[in-house]
Amino acid sequence: TNQKETGWNLRNSYAELPNIFFTLLDPNPVSSPKIVKFNDSLAASLGLQKEQLQSPEGVSILAGNSVPKGAFPLAQAYGGHQFGHFNMLGDGRAMLIGEQVTPSGEKVDLQLKGSGRTPYSRGGDGRAALGPMLREYIISEAMHALRIPTTRSLAVVTTGESIVREKELPGAILTRVASSHLRFGTFQFAAKWGTVENLQALADYALERHFPHIEKNEKKYLSLLQEVIKRHATLVAKWQLIGFIHGVMNTDNMTISGETIDYGPCAFMDTYDPETVFSSIDVQGRYAYQNQPGITGWNLARFAEALLPLLDQDIEKAVEIAQSAVTEFPKFYRENWLAGMQAKLGLFNEEKEDEALFQELLTIMKTYEADYTNTFRALTFDKLENSDLFKSKEFAQWHELWQKRLGRQQQSKADSQELMKNNNPAVIPRNHRVEEALDAAQKEDYSVMETLLEVLSSPYESPGQPEYCTPSAPSNQPYQTYCG
Ligand code: AMP
Ligand code: MG
Ligand code: MG
Repeated sequence: TNQKETGWNLRNSYAELPNIFFTLLDPNPVSSPKIVKFNDSLAASLGLQKEQLQSPEGVSILAGNSVPKGAFPLAQAYGGHQFGHFNMLGDGRAMLIGEQVTPSGEKVDLQLKGSGRTPYSRGGDGRAALGPMLREYIISEAMHALRIPTTRSLAVVTTGESIVREKELPGAILTRVASSHLRFGTFQFAAKWGTVENLQALADYALERHFPHIEKNEKKYLSLLQEVIKRHATLVAKWQLIGFIHGVMNTDNMTISGETIDYGPCAFMDTYDPETVFSSIDVQGRYAYQNQPGITGWNLARFAEALLPLLDQDIEKAVEIAQSAVTEFPKFYRENWLAGMQAKLGLFNEEKEDEALFQELLTIMKTYEADYTNTFRALTFDKLENSDLFKSKEFAQWHELWQKRLGRQQQSKADSQELMKNNNPAVIPRNHRVEEALDAAQKEDYSVMETLLEVLSSPYESPGQPEYCTPSAPSNQPYQTYCG
């Protein structure tokens, strides 16, 4: 079969890096793989043939039982600061099939997550359970529809085998699509265990893959650092603006590309509270909503440290260069956040008092325990009834200031509303809706998930089914997520 029939158009440029960066893998077969979710539109944009991938031959590839032509599957080596402590890690349950060259000429990684043990598995079984893989599928695709840079999900297959967690669970493999799987932790790994030549080879690879426009810069490694800082300032601002809590912002879970990766314990915030934490293992609240920008800055400092040998031969100079680059992060973050908040409140220009106006709204949202998403959507359509927040005196005062502020710009009310509508989603993956979809899937009913995915695919349109916008009923048990 030729490429036209199969769609596969694989490269393995990662395998050309120095061999400390990976281990080649053999297939690690599972007994009876079956596709339970397939992303038609993503497959098409990658140039992959749906019929081919859904044939027994294709399913066998998505399960890691066989390898497409031209692929050299491998597990990547990396390190990472996990909750502040540096460890040697690596793909413990994933295999990179290769880089698919898409019809538009982009190179994207295809990786199987849950594909079995690797030399980096440590005590783990290398496997993944169906629930968490479907959860990653749902949330990553929702993030994509919300226009937040993210890895994507091409397919979920069940393996026909059970895996043991607290109880026996059905095993599954997710095909993850990413513009690459280079992480801050890949650079930390090179800095700690490789030679300067190894580190340089990795940096050159990252430049070629993600930042070809700066490859020729005189100080290209400083440019690399600055570009990664900018991408992460953009990314974490988008998380804050949408109410997304990543949950496990370890440096191995931070991509060089600036895409969101690792949908383990993440979740969306319902009631606005800056201290919100969902992850069962984050007992200190290190990765709480309000800490995310600061943690991104801390992670970027670790990335900068890894780059030091490339920034200057004189270590003191290198430290100075790195520090002055990382010091820029809070400014970039703030610019992104302010611009995003302006859009959420229908503002086309900037005024000095804007930040105070935004903070005041958030303060009263916290006081009145307002739903984050629905508050902004209600402001968009001027549907200000039915809540303690909107009935409050503080809100009335704030609203007046906001109306005056809107009146000081050229654009019409309709223009403002359009801007707000495109920046304040009607639907996010509400925790109880996601759980409901996963519960049904566990019983082999995938229809609940399909409907949810359909609604989440156009989050800025008010859905026909308004129940997708409703927060879950208050409960004594706070929502908790697990790493899966
Ligand atoms: P995470 O907390 O998801 O970022 O994972 C941290 C590290 O643990 C990564 O190196 C993973 O590959 C590895 N890991 C997670 N789950 C498993 C598993 N079931 N078996 C082997 N390694 C795993
Ligand atoms: Mg991870
Ligand atoms: Mg994970």
